[in-house]
Amino acid sequence: MNDVKVGDSIETMQDGRAIGGNVHRVNTGVVTRLTPAQVIIRNEHGNVQRFSRATGQAIPQIDKLCPKYMRKSETPSGEPKASKTEIANLAFESRMRTHLAKPIAKSLPQDFSDLEEIFKPAATAALGKMKYLTTKNAKTSKGESLGFLTAILYLAPSYLSGNNVCPHASAGCIASCLFSAGMGAFGNVKRARIAKTKAFFHSPKAFIERLAKDISAAQRKAEREGLELCVRLNGTSDLPWEVFGGEIGVSLMDRFPQVIFYDYTKNPSRIRKFLAGKLPSNYSLTFSRSESNGETALQLASEGANVAVVFSTKKANGLPKSWGGREVVDGDVSDLRFLDARGRIVGLRAKGQAKKDMSGFVVSV
Ligand code: SF4
Repeated sequence: MNDVKVGDSIETMQDGRAIGGNVHRVNTGVVTRLTPAQVIIRNEHGNVQRFSRATGQAIPQIDKLCPKYMRKSETPSGEPKASKTEIANLAFESRMRTHLAKPIAKSLPQDFSDLEEIFKPAATAALGKMKYLTTKNAKTSKGESLGFLTAILYLAPSYLSGNNVCPHASAGCIASCLFSAGMGAFGNVKRARIAKTKAFFHSPKAFIERLAKDISAAQRKAEREGLELCVRLNGTSDLPWEVFGGEIGVSLMDRFPQVIFYDYTKNPSRIRKFLAGKLPSNYSLTFSRSESNGETALQLASEGANVAVVFSTKKANGLPKSWGGREVVDGDVSDLRFLDARGRIVGLRAKGQAKKDMSGFVVSV
């Protein structure tokens, strides 16, 4: 395709393998634009198609093709169409790859709301059955050995759902969170987190009522198992849960005074409210240091706050003894931050994608 010119009429073979099945059909189109790497044509159906100049192969545009193929019962060659889930996965992964390939500062705010229609059927179906709180994972099992049942709410971090749930996030922490939460297999868990986040922004009051039911259920489970219930609502978000009162205008902390609530936050004013005793007495907060709030973290530590710091320490190794002149306690022993003595640095080892951090979010040791 190296010798075509704008205005040329050409026949192309469209390869639709990217959306499931081996699809080949011939299109006639007119070359409308050339880039150093691509030939862009408008075909006889009025659709824009892109081809590699070097190989002549079609460059799939998954996001644009998906809605069209979702409406058809079969692909043009008569093969079964890809399932809605496969299409949603491909569209999401394609979008996330583009998003994550850019420097975070340039790629935010990112709006995924145009994928809403694709996600809606799966998300709605999933939400009906789903429990909002997770009580079984690596974090919660450490707490069980210490006598606590931990229930965690995981939303889709940062702008992943189209709405920002982390207003104080840094580029470094977003990159770690988005890579962990957004890439790779886009399974039910990740889809569920996006669905929950959308449900929260769609109807915060109804969401709080649903959470209240889940907390009651977790409370009964804790009683049956002889454990004490603690709830972390910002598993992968940084929202001020103390201000949401639901349909009856009463926060979850005040509705469940016998339950312990705890969270990490990057919001200094919430930490100062906590230190001043202006948050519900059963809600404990730990400040979360990033590459962009180090001075604030040290200042808050001097005011008595606990500060979580992620170190590059390997799993089997010990954390530094001190940071910023303050004692470091091992935060990986359990997630039960409300048990930590005040004014400590809570050391965490970098996990998952944070191990590749280059931003300074992870402190090198
Ligand atoms: S680390 Fe916390 S603030 Fe940063 S993106 Fe993840 S959940 Fe949000």
